[in-house]
Amino acid sequence: MNEFALIDRFFRRAVHDPAVRTGIGDDGAVVVPAPGCDLVFSVDMLVEGRHFLADAAPATVGHKTLAVNLSDMAAMGARPRWALLAGALPDFDECWLDGFTRGLFALADRFEVTLIGGDTTRGPRNFCLTIIGEVPAGAALTRAGARAGDDIYVSGTLGDAALALAVLQGRATLGDADFAMVRERLETPEPRVALGERLRGVASAAIDISDGLTGDLQHILDRSGVGAAIDVALIPRSMPLATLIDCAQRDLALACLLAGGDDYELCFMAAPSSRQVLAAIALEAGMPLTRIGHVTATAGIVVRDEQGTPLATLPRSFDHFG
Ligand code: ADP
Ligand code: MG
Repeated sequence: MNEFALIDRFFRRAVHDPAVRTGIGDDGAVVVPAPGCDLVFSVDMLVEGRHFLADAAPATVGHKTLAVNLSDMAAMGARPRWALLAGALPDFDECWLDGFTRGLFALADRFEVTLIGGDTTRGPRNFCLTIIGEVPAGAALTRAGARAGDDIYVSGTLGDAALALAVLQGRATLGDADFAMVRERLETPEPRVALGERLRGVASAAIDISDGLTGDLQHILDRSGVGAAIDVALIPRSMPLATLIDCAQRDLALACLLAGGDDYELCFMAAPSSRQVLAAIALEAGMPLTRIGHVTATAGIVVRDEQGTPLATLPRSFDHFG
């Protein structure tokens, strides 16, 4: 099968979005942005061996390639609309491509995202997806708006994806059912797109947690010129992780909670006057939004343990060059 037949067979599909004037099959894609909207762009690369394991189920790789980008749109309060996919494949493996595109398009269909172009070459397996989203003019959430006194929130629970990775790497053990649960969080994360859109006009700053809570929180603090105080006891955690923290493997579990990557939950700030609105948004979103601390005027993050004592050192968040 040649390159163009491959693109036609696996990536080109009927387009239902009337805003797409020209999709896959031309030298460039043409889309019509909605009037009164700003466009939001983001790109993320997934490399085999680094972002996904060589033996990962192809459908989960397809899912994650799009999910991490949808998560960036969520963090911006944007509605994802269009995607471009550049991919390198080591060989023509029909079965692998079938699985990959099944995972990719299942998620794309759920979020009404249209694949409008890309590039396909031979090489070590990696995928680079560009996402384009829309947000009402001027309403995008950024990392820059946090103010001293704001509450700090996270969505869902943290640390499950890192715990799954620890189990896969033989650094922790879990029962079958618990492992299945955290593994799903690692391999098929759910981007918090509806929540991000709902936080427009409410959150003062937001980020998605891809590299770990403290590291990603620090990005907001840097951009906003503020600091933070958070409490370990308040950080929401799943039952399997809670069990490890309370007994078996406290250090590893704390590192998952505070610095574990790949959760794709949102961390955001809001004025204390927004607490009621946020309780309503949590109900609507069907997901906990937990207040874990507050923004301070002094730079740096203070993390207090269950007794209120500041941790002397913080577990390190993920950094490709760290
Ligand atoms: P060009 O040579 O003009 O750069 P290509 O031959 O690389 O174009 O691609 C042909 C068409 O297929 C283009 O519209 C391109 O956007 C699309 N395309 C190529 N690879 C992919 C892919 N992996 N996913 C989606 N669209 C793709
Ligand atoms: Mg061309």
